[in-house]
Amino acid sequence: SMEDALAQGQFIVYLQPKYRLKDRELSGAEALVRWIHPEWGFQSPGEFIPLFERNGFITQLDQYVWDRTCALLRDWDRKEYPQIPVSVNVSRADIYNADLANILLRTVHKYNLPPSRLHLEITESAYTENPGQIIDTVTHLRELGFIIEMDDFGSGYSSLNLLSKVTVDTVKLDKQFLDDTMNSEREETALTIIKYLTKMLRHLGFKVLAEGVETSEQLEMLRLADCDIVQGYFYAKPMPIGEFRTFLQEFNERDN
Ligand code: C2E
Ligand code: CA
Ligand code: CA
Repeated sequence: SMEDALAQGQFIVYLQPKYRLKDRELSGAEALVRWIHPEWGFQSPGEFIPLFERNGFITQLDQYVWDRTCALLRDWDRKEYPQIPVSVNVSRADIYNADLANILLRTVHKYNLPPSRLHLEITESAYTENPGQIIDTVTHLRELGFIIEMDDFGSGYSSLNLLSKVTVDTVKLDKQFLDDTMNSEREETALTIIKYLTKMLRHLGFKVLAEGVETSEQLEMLRLADCDIVQGYFYAKPMPIGEFRTFLQEFNERDN
């Protein structure tokens, strides 16, 4: 039913806001897909993305999400909303598509957007799986003006080594990092790791984003660590586009 579902508009893009820590201002959003199935109801990506990664449908779905996201950015521009960037997820399978850069370029051009408005989240495990290919692809995409965010950083094993080989714009610390700190019996040690990891990443020229921020304690800790951007339930869960508009409008009002 995947193809029909796509044609019938059952896949819906939700947005989760990202905030700059230093002034608590909205800095962007992440596009996360949901499947509203006529019989099964609301489906979370955790339930269908792994399946689509196995059967290859993910490349089609991702392109659909990129297209809808760019259409939305264009709509916001027309309405003169603040020009925040939105990040989309780029699955491992997309990286192996030799046409990836062209598809992305066509999509942003179709909606008259500079590539820098579309941030691309590429999961860390994609880098470790095929470093040569991903480094070439990421280098090319950055030359074209896309902003690259390394997703799930710290969930794999060769993260640190990788950073000397690949240039990205932002590193997204995996949610597990924050969870581990809070549940750790050696909380001090876990805190020290986040703090110095963040400092090191910033020193290397990366922006640092922490995802999965749920508590004010975590936020305080990230502030001490000098983290740039935060995303998580503490601020807001992913929400339908219509709801996100109120976040944009509030931001606009504060801005002016
Ligand atoms: P991800 O890219 O790591 O996205 C972050 C996930 O963490 C999202 O789950 C988000 O809703 C959730 N999250 C955000 N803040 C918090 C928090 O404070 N606490 C907790 N417990 N969770 C938080 P979601 O939306 O269910 O997506 C799961 C995964 O599915 C994503 O992980 C991503 O890998 C994949 N995914 C979602 N949409 C797409 C898509 O359009 N394309 C591709 N290829 N993958 C997607
Ligand atoms: Ca992501
Ligand atoms: Ca992630």
